[in-house]
Amino acid sequence: MTGSHKVHRMTSPTEPTPGAEAGQARLDSPEAAVLHEAESVIEQAEPAGSAAMDLLDSRRRMLLVHAHPDDETIGNGVTMAKYAAAGAHVTLVTCTLGEEGEVLVPDLAHLAADRDDALGPQRITELATAMEALGVTDHRYLGGAGRYRDSGMMGLPTNDRPDCFWQADVDEAAGHLVEVIRETRPQVLVTYDPEGGYGHPDHIQAHRVAMRAAELAGLGGGDAAPWAIAKIYWNALPESWLRDGLRRLRDSGDTTTFEGMDPDAAELPYVVPDELVTAVVDGMDVVDAKMAAMRAHATQITLDGPFFALSNNMGNEVWGLEAYRLVHGRPGPADERDGDGRETDLFSGLD
Ligand SMILES: [Zn+2]
Repeated sequence: MTGSHKVHRMTSPTEPTPGAEAGQARLDSPEAAVLHEAESVIEQAEPAGSAAMDLLDSRRRMLLVHAHPDDETIGNGVTMAKYAAAGAHVTLVTCTLGEEGEVLVPDLAHLAADRDDALGPQRITELATAMEALGVTDHRYLGGAGRYRDSGMMGLPTNDRPDCFWQADVDEAAGHLVEVIRETRPQVLVTYDPEGGYGHPDHIQAHRVAMRAAELAGLGGGDAAPWAIAKIYWNALPESWLRDGLRRLRDSGDTTTFEGMDPDAAELPYVVPDELVTAVVDGMDVVDAKMAAMRAHATQITLDGPFFALSNNMGNEVWGLEAYRLVHGRPGPADERDGDGRETDLFSGLD
């Protein structure tokens, strides 16, 4: 989970999406149309094999590294849906099963760590459903499902469990990710900033592991060929987005969502100054997929919770934009940026 989100509605890009272009190109000739249809049938018949086929076909490949099931949807849902729909190969690596999460569904409350401690399998199912909603076929758990346990919130005794992700050796954990990087060869990596967005130990550790793996993957050693990732982005919540969102909530009379947070406070948690934000992905066209994926994470996100309160007050546009900081690699050309000088495509400059 992360904090709240953003509220600017930006104009849609005037250029067609990469997906529209790819779709037209493939349907130019009758042969291509037949081939395309045949591929669709194969993909439907063999869902397990479609990820490998996408990988070979895809010019653009993106890797996202997250701590718990649901983080990917909240932080990058429209980005994942948009690039997957455009034919990019999108790989999600989730580092834990989120076993320590709160359970917001009363009938499933017994799954919680302090009762049956059986939340992990439930969250595997939720993540799989969410990925279907986003159209992402390649999702994995770091080192295999259950290899690293959710560490719980910072300062809790669960941070000290030897099997938790916070206690993992960074190089060893990064080794698992190096294998994925060398296999999928992503040009773009998305992960958290060094504070893990909001300070959860698993988010901080996911950052460390992702950055270390990116470094190691580019060096020699091991059986697979080295792979250097061209661009690395950290998720970002621009300060102005949170201030505007809080202001609109408070103006609407909602004093309980994100309680205690004041839109005019001198300092707000979780945010980065707007000037550090270098890219904004506009995914208004796929926001419904993100909302469906949020609902799939049923034990974690409720319809009467703060995230949906935001969209009830402001409409779905609060979810349609996702912001990033480019921290490695060169930004794309200036003529591909928006009015604020930000990239609108994480692959800008790479094609
Ligand atoms: Zn999380």
